[in-house]
Amino acid sequence: MSPLPPGLLREELRGIEPYGAPQLDVPVLLNVNENPYPPSTAVLADIERAVAEAARDLNRYPDREFVALREALAAYLGHGVTPAQVWAANGSNEVMLHLLQAFGGPSRLALSFAPTYSMYPEYARDTHTGWEVGHRDQDFTLDPDHAVALVRERRPHVVLLPSPNNPTGTALPPDMIGALCEALDGGVLVVDEAYAEFRRAGTPSALELLPTYPNLVVTRTMSKAFALAGARVGYLAASAEVCDALRVVRLPYHLSSVTQAVARAALRHADELLGAVDRLRAERDGTVEWLRAHGFSVADSDANFVLFGKFPDRHDVWQGLLDRGVLIRETGPDGWLRVSIGTAAEMAAFRQALTSVTADPREARP
Ligand code: PMP
Repeated sequence: MSPLPPGLLREELRGIEPYGAPQLDVPVLLNVNENPYPPSTAVLADIERAVAEAARDLNRYPDREFVALREALAAYLGHGVTPAQVWAANGSNEVMLHLLQAFGGPSRLALSFAPTYSMYPEYARDTHTGWEVGHRDQDFTLDPDHAVALVRERRPHVVLLPSPNNPTGTALPPDMIGALCEALDGGVLVVDEAYAEFRRAGTPSALELLPTYPNLVVTRTMSKAFALAGARVGYLAASAEVCDALRVVRLPYHLSSVTQAVARAALRHADELLGAVDRLRAERDGTVEWLRAHGFSVADSDANFVLFGKFPDRHDVWQGLLDRGVLIRETGPDGWLRVSIGTAAEMAAFRQALTSVTADPREARP
């Protein structure tokens, strides 16, 4: 390979490694918050039929406005959300890129509170948007005084906040969302609810606040609860005006007809897929309990993953687990590790491997 001519690559991209968790071939994969359950026979049959039908028209471009998918997503979300208030793209990653393409840009600022989702600064970089982070408290919750003061001072066009937060699992209380929407003068608050379906009973969704705050955007994904990470479908609910603005920046026909067909087929099976979510929530709560009973620090989680620690050398523990066939994620604040929630058998393998790693005097203890 001949090297790129000097100066060709944008300065801020030089020497940067492409984002991505290691994709390793090991027996227990608990590192990217996937849903461990592949589609059931019934879901698979419906997806196959839908794809076969879409294939007949592959000589034609897809419905650019993905009307039928918007209708199905609006019906799934409820809360009075209309199809005109829904936008979708190839994963919520692309949805967020659209938001920054439309509302960020040179001399504008996007803001979040660390620790937060590691892709946000990349969306900002790629859209030439300034990037800044405030901080979270020791327990990973957000201090309303700090958050509101920072938003008032820095006047960002976009605030990006996952709820539940990745990598900590922490959900945002509605008061916090309301306070930030009010503090934002001419900006939007994007509440990234990629993991919303996994939240514990009594934790509300930001969707409830949409009618009150026109500058609130709630993003979701089919990658987690719907077990459809491979199909790449993310979406948002916001005002119809926000959705209309995103039509300007999307690539023509950005959602393929196959993608639209697969997403609609999966949505027809929402009840069944959400049944598996209940099993994962129970497994998550059991994992938190087990980790605490074994002396680990654990962040409260409303998501399908758990952040735990603290290890003097977390890399040693991560490697020890990998050596035992269990891949988790080395992410979050120093000393912490994140494990995604898998099947009962996968979580048993994780517990066994962790017990063995932390019992080994050569490896770190909590
Ligand atoms: N937001 C958060 C907080 C995430 O953790 C992820 C995936 N890890 C995404 C968005 C993007 O998911 P996708 O593009 O698959 O919808």
